[in-house]
Amino acid sequence: MKTFQLTRPKDSAQAIAAAAKSKTAQQGAEIRFIAGGTTLIDLMKLNVETPQSLVDVNRLPMDKIEATPDGGLTIGAVVRNSDLAWHPLVRKNYAVLSEAILSGATVQIRNMATTAGNLLQRTRCMYFRDTAMPCNKREPGSGCGAINGMNRGLAILGTSEHCIATNPSDMNVAMAALEATVHVRGGKGERAIPIADFHVLPGNTPQRETVLEPGDLITHVTLPPPAPGNRSLYLKLRDRASYEFALASAAVVITAANGKIARARIALGGVGTKPWRSTEAEAELAGQPATEATFRKAADVAVRDAKAQSQNGFKVDLAQRCLTHALSTVVA
Ligand SMILES: Cc1cc2nc3c(=O)[nH]c(=O)nc-3n(C[C@H](O)[C@H](O)[C@H](O)COP(=O)(O)OP(=O)(O)OC[C@H]3O[C@@H](n4cnc5c(N)ncnc54)[C@H](O)[C@@H]3O)c2cc1C
Ligand code: SF4
Repeated sequence: MKTFQLTRPKDSAQAIAAAAKSKTAQQGAEIRFIAGGTTLIDLMKLNVETPQSLVDVNRLPMDKIEATPDGGLTIGAVVRNSDLAWHPLVRKNYAVLSEAILSGATVQIRNMATTAGNLLQRTRCMYFRDTAMPCNKREPGSGCGAINGMNRGLAILGTSEHCIATNPSDMNVAMAALEATVHVRGGKGERAIPIADFHVLPGNTPQRETVLEPGDLITHVTLPPPAPGNRSLYLKLRDRASYEFALASAAVVITAANGKIARARIALGGVGTKPWRSTEAEAELAGQPATEATFRKAADVAVRDAKAQSQNGFKVDLAQRCLTHALSTVVA
């Protein structure tokens, strides 16, 4: 195992060139970037991730949170989750993001975890984390242990016959509702990727989780200016009150006027194979009276394509209730 540390922006070009020799950006890649290490080191200890070299990006100058001229926000890739959650501009303008991050993991983990690392955290599916078990995501073509196995915590939206793993991140759900953009530097230059396009559905290639190519370095994330007069909320439902992943969660960003919903941005967590933006629920809410009946209807629409597995049928109802309650609370 070799470890390289990057300290200057120009170093990253060398790392990208080196990492680009890998065949994939994530599972199976020989060279990997490492930030907080709270996902990658965990999986290396379990032999799920077995990179030959690590490129440490922690000292690259990507650690700032700054307002953009248009009133939005730019967030460096190595900004720690704690620093992001407690930043005054995030608390004031993007409360849903602060709440989502603070609902996850523990203080110690949030102090290490970074923006880019959180975007790329891996599923908590137990078969993925156990090399004795079949798992198409870890070892393409080996089968999916979860489909006829322990699937209580896994996804009901965006699944395929090859993988039903949930994207476990809370931060990603808020980022989806806030319409974040992920900025990447790679062998093909710089790209700006809307978060809705950043994570991909498992389909028949569950080992591929994002549109990142080998060697792509996430440099920062931007948020658009907050919608005037919006209110936002992150509601997370889980088996215990802390140190636990979501069974269902909802990020809602709502603008209401004269008792009606003018604009809604909705994303669900704990139920999708990627952070689950529901533009269908948003359309259902727009222009409608801000009542519980409206919210229930939108919640029905949000999960209408759900496909439950043997143990996770309860998530359909749970996600509906979660979204309905989040909407009722945010407009109260
Ligand atoms: C016990 C425990 C409980 C947790 N509970 C929750 C929870 O409730 N909710 C939740 O949302 N999360 C939870 N997490 C997950 C945690 O949020 C993630 O592990 C963390 O955000 C990952 O960030 P990191 O910087 O440590 O990533 P790393 O482990 O350093 O990296 C993760 C991945 O990102 C890649 N990477 C890192 N930086 C870059 C970059 N700049 N460009 C390209 N690729 C990069 C790495 O190569 C790796 O593939 C939990 C984790 C643990 C260990
Ligand atoms: S659900 Fe996905 S991650 Fe879990 S065992 Fe099946 S293929 Fe692997």
